[in-house]
Amino acid sequence: MDLSNVLKALLATPHAHTLKDEYVYVRCPMCGDSLKHPDKCHCSIWVRPAMPLIYHCWICEESGVVGSNFLQSMGILDLGVSNTLAQYNKATMKGKKITSFSMMRKDYKLLIPSIQDTELNRRKLEYMQKRIGKKFTYKSMEYLRIIFSIKDFLKVNELKVNSKFMKNIYYLDRDYIGFLSSTRDVITMRSIDPNSKYRYVKYFVFEDQENPEQMYAIPNRIDPMSDTVTINISEGTFDTLGVFFNVKKGELDNQIYVSVCGSAYKKVLQNFLKKGFLNNLVVNIYSDSDKGPEFYNKLIEEYSPWVKEFHIFYNTIKDAKGKSDFGVPEDEILVKEFVL
Ligand SMILES: [Zn+2]
Repeated sequence: MDLSNVLKALLATPHAHTLKDEYVYVRCPMCGDSLKHPDKCHCSIWVRPAMPLIYHCWICEESGVVGSNFLQSMGILDLGVSNTLAQYNKATMKGKKITSFSMMRKDYKLLIPSIQDTELNRRKLEYMQKRIGKKFTYKSMEYLRIIFSIKDFLKVNELKVNSKFMKNIYYLDRDYIGFLSSTRDVITMRSIDPNSKYRYVKYFVFEDQENPEQMYAIPNRIDPMSDTVTINISEGTFDTLGVFFNVKKGELDNQIYVSVCGSAYKKVLQNFLKKGFLNNLVVNIYSDSDKGPEFYNKLIEEYSPWVKEFHIFYNTIKDAKGKSDFGVPEDEILVKEFVL
């Protein structure tokens, strides 16, 4: 089916442009895009044959399928254009489960509850400070999409308790700290109580999510069109905090910090490639010691054509058990690159 009138209309909007006919960049109609750069576009639309148009905004992180609402909010009111798109979407989405770019969730702006200064929360804050060795505030926790009270999170978002966790919600609320995934579907919860039955729990925000994205990322604004975007990947949420605060000293300039959180590295990389990066990605893997460099061979082989550079780093300071990762204070990190 021919989409050319839709693409033409999108490209006619202010400052829109295309990249290798595979992406169309427009000003984001959801958040209004960057105020600082009124002539730049941070909303990418992925154009592929026989697939729905998928948008993703690097400022507000909204994503989904381009539909008639999207067109209207772009000021595209041509009926011929919206009819073409409606037919195209109907044909291309038939039988497809659009999971990671779910359409239903887009009305959902999940809020992070503000953290109350209670004795329990002070203990949780202390736990965070100890793990990473930084003086965190409640505000910094909220900014990092860290949830101290799952009950408060459910309350401010008017959500029901996932029935799977109904019995344990009391413990999840009391003993755990949650990290909201970048697509806001999963909370990776870490216990602060050494006696908890589970150190980690995955809390699915929506019960009907089949295979939600689990990765956690430090909120940041990226310009996907710049020459180099660095993605710093590590295994767990604390590794990501350690890399961000203690290795890269809080550097935000075109840096993505993401943890795979038990999902696959491959899935995380694919996810970013889908968002419109072409040959400008530098991939830094900050690895746990229990994954040797050969663990990444296949990943590197498969993705090298699309990635500018690959690097693998280890922390050479081992803990009492002879293992190392990056989820530790600064004085317990000595970075060493494994030369590929
Ligand atoms: Zn936006």
